Amino acid sequence: MTRQLRVNPIACSGHGLCAELLPELITLDEWGYPLLVDQPVPAGLAGRARRAVRDCPALALLLSEPSGASAEIQSQLRRTAQARARH
Ligand code: SF4
Repeated sequence: MTRQLRVNPIACSGHGLCAELLPELITLDEWGYPLLVDQPVPAGLAGRARRAVRDCPALALLLSEPSGASAEIQSQLRRTAQARARH
């Protein structure tokens, strides 16, 4: 299945870890926030893309189907709110 990286700009705190893990698809702007390549994740990078999502300390990075972005972002926002409520 073709998936695309997306970032929740509200949750992202600009750690930059994602760009270190996946420089082929993610660069950082001048403030350290991610700029994502606007294309589906190639099959050869899928494993590293999943790792970047898993390791994001702010739970701000997600993989979604291009047409399912809204539902994925809503789910991500809920997980972020739950994680913050625990701290
Ligand atoms: S690792 Fe997560 S919090 Fe850090 S810049 Fe990337 S998306 Fe944002």
